[in-house]
Parts: sequence; structure tokens; C-alpha cells
Amino acid sequence: MLLIGSHVSFGSKEQLLGSVKEAISYGANSFMFYTGAPQNTKRCNIDYDLTLEARNLLYENNIELENIVVHAPYIINLANNEKKESYLFAIDFLKDEIKRAYALGSEKLVLHPGSFVNLDLDTGIKNIINALNEVLTPNQAVKICLETMAGKGTETCFKLEHIKRIIDGVKYPDKIMVCLDTCHLNDAGYDMGDFDSFLKEFDKIIGIDKIGCVHINDSKNEIGTHKDRHENIGFGTIGFDNLLKIIYDERLKNVPKILETPYVSLAGGKDRSYPPYKFEIDKIRNKKFNKNILENIRDYYKN
Ligand code: FE
Ligand code: FE
Ligand code: ZN
Repeated sequence: MLLIGSHVSFGSKEQLLGSVKEAISYGANSFMFYTGAPQNTKRCNIDYDLTLEARNLLYENNIELENIVVHAPYIINLANNEKKESYLFAIDFLKDEIKRAYALGSEKLVLHPGSFVNLDLDTGIKNIINALNEVLTPNQAVKICLETMAGKGTETCFKLEHIKRIIDGVKYPDKIMVCLDTCHLNDAGYDMGDFDSFLKEFDKIIGIDKIGCVHINDSKNEIGTHKDRHENIGFGTIGFDNLLKIIYDERLKNVPKILETPYVSLAGGKDRSYPPYKFEIDKIRNKKFNKNILENIRDYYKN
């Protein structure tokens, strides 16, 4: 069965229950959320009753807990330790985030490994390893999925070798998995039009069994531009057919595929914008691309 879903919200009011309802409205059987705003570290306590209600709804809709993914906020930066307090805060926050993911029933936590800023790449990677060694414990159920990055600015992990060094450097490598992001990989210089070669390379360096999640995004930019700007499925430089091949690759059958494509506005950004996920998931399931996303959104959300 195809495991497909998208990024959904996790509101302070309904928490996971809201996320599940949103995912169901898109026809998804998998989803990913931040436990609060992605750009800050304000987090509310996990409500037990709401979580229980959410789990019942998941069960009724045949969505497995193992296909629910949490994404850590992207201001958590383990690669830079110039400000000791921020580095220690990031470590403590990640420890708590693992507990939150576990309380919600998710066993996969996606993490942007970090940017080295004024340091250098090697030091950045060393800092990530040291931080993860503070965070990881031998018995934790939650796996940290290090995301492949585009190499924007001073980001680390835009090469598979960087991630391999982290896996080799931590005390509990079995707690680390990888989240592939097709837009980031394209922007980092990996050809998503030849996914078979990419996966063979990945298998040689890291091992296919380490892939815990795949972010399915088209890219606004050409290969190797180190930009990181996501595009809607079929509207970017990777293209619908190439993305479809990745989504339906037998070797990734049991790995959740998560869309993080941009919301679409009907008036060129002047009005509110709408999630494209229901329509993108439809196209993926039907294996048929059409450019009608604006009309779809107009019909579905405007009445
Ligand atoms: Fe991400
Ligand atoms: Fe991503
Ligand atoms: Zn991105």
C-alpha cells in the first residue's frame, strides 16, 4: 500500500486530533507535523485525552502510528556551539521533543542537522555528533531522522558522506535514520531524474534500511543551486514523472512519503493561501498530472 501524506498542523487547541482530522481530509494515510510553530520553541503540554481521541480516529481510519512523523523546529542548530547557552538549549529542547514525539505515539523525529555559521564544516559535524551523544539513550523508541539538506548558506548534510560521518560518530547509531528530501537533494546536486543510481549510491554509503521518511517536493531551482525552494508537484525542475518513480519505488514501500509543497494562493499571494495536498495526493494516487490546481482549490475551498 502506498504511504502518502503531507505536512499538517498541530494546533494548541486540538493538538494531534486536529492533525489527524486534517490528514484524513486530504485522503492521507501518513502525515508529519511540528509540535508547535516550526520557527520557534514554544511548546504546549501534550494532552492525554486529545491524544487518546486522536488515536481512536487513526485506528478507525486504518492509519498506523508508525507512519506518523514529527519534525523538530528548524531553529534547533546542533552544528554551531559558539554560544554555549544556545547549544545547550538545543540539546535540552531535542531531549524534550523526543519525549513529546513518544507521548504522541510517533517514533520518527525529523531533524535538520544544523548550520556551522562562523565555524567550518568539520567542526559543525563534530558538534552535531557531540550533541546527539548527549541526547540519544540506548532504550529510546524514537529515531532521529537526519534530513538531507540543500547546502544553503552554511548547512551541513548536503552530502550523504556528512550524514554517514554522523552515524559513524554517535554512540547509538541504531537511533539514527535519514529523511530524504527530494527538493533538497536536487538542490544539493543529486539527480532525482536518475533515482535508481542515487539509491544505489545511498545504499553503498549509508544503507537503504536507514531511510525513515521521504519528503516529496518539486524544486523551483535547477540541480546543484543550493537554494531550497519547494515547488508544487509537477510544477518544478524535478517533474511529475520523476517524483512518481520515487514515490512508487518498491524499495521505499514501507517508508512514509510526506509532501511539503507550498500553499497555493488564488490571487498571486494577495489573499490567503490554501493547502494543495488533497489534490496532489489525488494526482499521485491516479498517477496522472494536470495543471488544474488553481481550479481544484477554487472549487473545493471557495464554497
Ligand atoms: Fe525539513
Ligand atoms: Fe523537508
Ligand atoms: Zn526545504
